[in-house]
Amino acid sequence: MEKVVSGIRPTGNLHLGNYFGAVKSFVKMQDDYDCMFFIADWHSLTTQPKPEDIRRSVKTILAEYLACGIDPEKAVIYIQSDVRETLELYLYLNMNAYLGELGRVTTFKEKARQQPNNVNAGLFTYPTLMAADVLQHRAVKVPVGKDQQQNMEMMRKCARRFNNIYNVEYFPEPQDFTYAAQAVKIPGLDGSGKMGKSDGNCIYLCDDDATITNKVKKALTVSTPTEPNSEKPECIQNLFTFLDICSSPEVKAFFEEQWNNCAIRFGDLKKQLAEDLCRIIGPIRERIQQFSSDDALLERIARDGAERARASAAQTLREVREIVGFSPTQR
Ligand code: ADP
Repeated sequence: MEKVVSGIRPTGNLHLGNYFGAVKSFVKMQDDYDCMFFIADWHSLTTQPKPEDIRRSVKTILAEYLACGIDPEKAVIYIQSDVRETLELYLYLNMNAYLGELGRVTTFKEKARQQPNNVNAGLFTYPTLMAADVLQHRAVKVPVGKDQQQNMEMMRKCARRFNNIYNVEYFPEPQDFTYAAQAVKIPGLDGSGKMGKSDGNCIYLCDDDATITNKVKKALTVSTPTEPNSEKPECIQNLFTFLDICSSPEVKAFFEEQWNNCAIRFGDLKKQLAEDLCRIIGPIRERIQQFSSDDALLERIARDGAERARASAAQTLREVREIVGFSPTQR
């Protein structure tokens, strides 16, 4: 069976961007692929979080993965820092990654802008750690949101370059993947391009109904158009993206028509959208509460996942050492 790998950083709770961009695909893929889903705690160190925050967030994401429907009987769920083989591959990949190309990665440039006093090497080599996460399992597909496409390009470059340098056909070039018709980008409700934790515009899977409704109510809108069939400004397009993903086709068609006829009432649209979001999030939230309180279960799943992920990575690293030229005595 084809291998699939992806992960999310434990920097707080899962939001709708994470859910529709990635986790929903994880859940669908687990039936058809050999899946490994991890919690990217090493990746979260780029912002120097407090140890107690990492510990809490790792547990949170684990419970949220399970609440979303990732089944440890079908997919391996593990914590990134439990698999130290990743670091060795990260080193090999870094030896073949160039300053110029790493510096051009948009997410690096964005982060460097966001945290100008902490532009660290981990931030710079984020794409090679991401490549190591995936290549160590020789995965062929990576379910991620649209925002990760450049990092995926870098990952393929890492695989290709390793194969070229050592004249082998060892690493597959992993493809970004989603079960939706096309890569998903969940916008922010504040009219901004993307829902993201650092943008402070998220609806979380643990939000209660009142919080969800309130956040939707506050979404940025414009005045009702006066010209039929007007082009939608970004903030309105964003609301329609949500309807597309969360509501029925009839609901979306109804509000499209209202927009086109200059009869749209954003209060009604938001009420409908909030209801649809509460319907999706409510059952997940309940399961998050159940899983979060079962420490023994979470620990068992993490331990079992670590063992299986380590076995997979260790096999790759044995072969990679051989390819790189290290002799068996060094193993
Ligand atoms: P965050 O942006 O909340 O810090 P990560 O960077 O850890 O989350 O991303 C985890 C996964 O969630 C990635 O696959 C990413 O593509 C996806 N993701 C995050 N935000 C969005 C979004 N707004 N739309 C689509 N996918 C997203």
